[in-house]
Amino acid sequence: MRAEILAVGSELLTPLRSDTNALWLTERLLEAGIEVGARTTVADDAALLESAFRAALSRADVVLATGGLGPTEDDLTREAAAAALGRGLQRKVELVEQLKARFARFGRVMSPVNEKQADLIDGARALPNARGTAPGQLVEEGPRLLALLPGPPGEMQPMFLEQVLPELRRRSGGALLRTRVLRIASMGESDVDAALAPVYKTFRNPRTTILSGAGQVELHLVAEGRSEAELEARLEELAAALRERLPGRIYSEDGRELPEVVAGLLRERGLRLALAESCTGGLAAARLTSVPGASHFLERGFVTYSNAAKSELLGVAPGLIAEHGAVSEPVARAMAEGALQRAGVEVGAAVTGVAGPDGGTAEKPVGTVYLALAGALGPRLRRAHFPGDRERVRQQSVQALLEMLRRALLRLEG
Ligand code: ATP
Repeated sequence: MRAEILAVGSELLTPLRSDTNALWLTERLLEAGIEVGARTTVADDAALLESAFRAALSRADVVLATGGLGPTEDDLTREAAAAALGRGLQRKVELVEQLKARFARFGRVMSPVNEKQADLIDGARALPNARGTAPGQLVEEGPRLLALLPGPPGEMQPMFLEQVLPELRRRSGGALLRTRVLRIASMGESDVDAALAPVYKTFRNPRTTILSGAGQVELHLVAEGRSEAELEARLEELAAALRERLPGRIYSEDGRELPEVVAGLLRERGLRLALAESCTGGLAAARLTSVPGASHFLERGFVTYSNAAKSELLGVAPGLIAEHGAVSEPVARAMAEGALQRAGVEVGAAVTGVAGPDGGTAEKPVGTVYLALAGALGPRLRRAHFPGDRERVRQQSVQALLEMLRRALLRLEG
């Protein structure tokens, strides 16, 4: 079964509001084994809406629309859907009464404009809205199903889960989809793909999509099956084959991000960490402290941006900086050692680099970064060269430092 989602509302086409309903619905649909073929965001415009409904209904088995069910003139979803279906709209007396009763419960008298919320498309079923005024509607058009849902997520979500999803499950005949996300840090997308594509391309089920962000590559494995056990077996077969191609490189298969994985390993081994950051300005500390319970393993972070700070706070000899430069192997090592000593912990980790756009030289171009570990997990040192702008260099530096910690904690090379 294929679904399409229509998000209705001119405000969704401005930078002020984003369409989170479609993302939420997509996730629920995928869990139920229904793929989303297209998502459309449409302004409050009768002609645009009608043609969007027509197009979606001509392609999809299920069309879910959210928004535009309010009482005002720019709420046009009901009218547009009726026009696209070639059906009429009838004002339902019993729905008008329910709306009036709802207003009365809050001690208010319903304004006549609200009556239009009681207009039901011919042949549609009204979906009661316990949390708002606008009822939803469910319409069958031959084998296709159209649902009109309210815009506010707090109203839309329970209506979908309680009144639409059961109907979709019945129609999809119990097919299930499940996704497993494999994450790899600090490796380029093309390197990951070169290593893994020969394996995942041979599988039709699960299907694999590769996505990359700063310092991270994700493989999304989507399996289709008839039972949880079948889904698990299909996903595990492919995941095992991929793990074998890149031993020790896949850091998570259960949704965890790199800081959580590193935090878990540090806690398991009872090691406390101190960070010394230059070009990342505390980003590594920020990512690690986003993990609940960070106080168990992170003792402190030094943001030592200037040369003076590196000397004063970490005890890096000024002569060392003068001789090799602040972005250099000896200074990275000295920073990690200094963090370790000054904090009195088991592990020191440091990062120093040229984030750009200025400051690069022929020998150390923008993107040159040194990472160092000292103490129980060291010594380790890595010189890296990251592509991209300042922000990407900083993000990749943090990922690389965390990956270095993870590999050291697991006693893996590199
Ligand atoms: P009602 O008028 O009963 O509140 P409605 O169906 O007319 O409901 P809209 O007027 O379109 O809904 O939207 C009401 C509010 O719901 C919006 O201001 C916005 O905050 C939220 N909303 C609407 N559509 C979306 C969407 N696609 N994603 C996230 N929020 C949305």
